[in-house]
Amino acid sequence: MSRKTDNGQTLPDPLLRATHRYGFYKSSEDLHVNVEVLEAHDETCLTLTLVAATEGWDSLGKQYLYGLVALRLSEDWTILSSGERYYVLTPPQPKENPPDVKPVCSRCGSDRVVRDACVRWSQITRGWVLIDVHECTFCEACEAEGDDLLHWAANDASQPPEAEQ
Ligand SMILES: [Zn+2]
Repeated sequence: MSRKTDNGQTLPDPLLRATHRYGFYKSSEDLHVNVEVLEAHDETCLTLTLVAATEGWDSLGKQYLYGLVALRLSEDWTILSSGERYYVLTPPQPKENPPDVKPVCSRCGSDRVVRDACVRWSQITRGWVLIDVHECTFCEACEAEGDDLLHWAANDASQPPEAEQ
């Protein structure tokens, strides 16, 4: 993925902004451990890719990669897609004029809809970080479930929220 010169220098790439490196010397094994994450930007998103890890230290590389991702998540960036060794993130959206809508059940119209989500522990923030919200929606009112159940409806402030059953 990254291009290197003969002496190991990363060549500048039009999209490349930074290379994050982490390394230490493990004296018991006489081994220099190094991991390297490439940070590339284009107009709409940022990609963080684990491009190098000392043999046998892949999981450390992935932890380091996720640590960099977690920092962005704490700044309200969003994960667009991810794989074993990369994350694509989109920047925080401006919140000045959010549309006045709410998610409702397309079958019964109730706003008592819930979704499952996935969180991962972050060593950096020492807390659970939201990774993904799953597509599937469950309606607590009519107990319907499905990937297409959720609709966005205008928020009618004059209507009181539905009473709990
Ligand atoms: Zn429903």
